[in-house]
Amino acid sequence: MVSNCANPGCGKPLHYLREGRIYIFDASSGVGDPGEKRQRCLEHYWLCGSCAETLMLVQDAQGLVRVLPKPAAIRETDERLPAFGSMLAS
Ligand SMILES: [Zn+2]
Repeated sequence: MVSNCANPGCGKPLHYLREGRIYIFDASSGVGDPGEKRQRCLEHYWLCGSCAETLMLVQDAQGLVRVLPKPAAIRETDERLPAFGSMLAS
């Protein structure tokens, strides 16, 4: 289980799950032979509140979890829902 912020430059201890954002990645992808019963292995990561505002976690093709800056578009939809009403009106 996670105990610290996934941002290596932060490392804030996890106290409240309400704060920040939990990411769950399937760490079992690419492991084991095809046809063999694979064991699902889910990895949990946590970004603290301040890191989650500007950073996001992604899993690359190798299955490595990386901390990336959040694109502005995603940041915007996080903070407020898309204004469908005003889009339709214009
Ligand atoms: Zn953090």
